[in-house]
Amino acid sequence: MIELDVLRSQAESCTACRLAETRTNVVFGVGRPDSTLMFVGEAPGRNEDLQGEPFVGRAGDLLNQLLAEVGIPRETVYIANVLKCRPPGNRDPQPDEIDACKGYLRQQIRLIRPQVVVTLGNFSTKLLLNTTTGITRLRGTAYPWWLGSTLIPTFHPAAALRGGSRVVDQMRQDFALMRSTLDAAAEPEPRLETQLASDPEPPAPEPYQATLWS
Ligand code: URA
Repeated sequence: MIELDVLRSQAESCTACRLAETRTNVVFGVGRPDSTLMFVGEAPGRNEDLQGEPFVGRAGDLLNQLLAEVGIPRETVYIANVLKCRPPGNRDPQPDEIDACKGYLRQQIRLIRPQVVVTLGNFSTKLLLNTTTGITRLRGTAYPWWLGSTLIPTFHPAAALRGGSRVVDQMRQDFALMRSTLDAAAEPEPRLETQLASDPEPPAPEPYQATLWS
């Protein structure tokens, strides 16, 4: 996809925030530009900064494993982060860094147009759902989101590596929800007469207002 390549080269020469001074590589994103499934993490860590690819360290191994458990190879999805450059010493992203970088993520989502977006951890979940509520309360639910997609928040794999099997099990539940949401989106629309004959659906929850572009 040409536009995504253009966006990547813009990001690769970006100097919009202080992280440009300390990065080794810009970690723009990896995967299929036409994927129906997109993951959004926080920011590159040391390995990602060195290799220029998101989620290649231990957290990435867990992400790959959880994907494999629901029958989805890593190569078939798209993976990006809120920040495209590593914060020194893996510190938290600063609000002005998120502001400077969020336009890239917004454009990535517009170009890829995934059916399901999975946010990994607090930073991406709070940004994309425009909320201050924490991940522990938000996970476990599929939220109708931007451009007709569904957003599914889950823990960050690094938090699961620290938190042990209970957290990993909760991530497994979220990945099962992700898989069933993708499967439902892939089903053909029922015929009109079947729709009319079936019970009315309960009203859908209001879509969340994303603020990536505000
Ligand atoms: N943590 C993230 O949030 N993103 C990565 O790419 C690696 C670790």
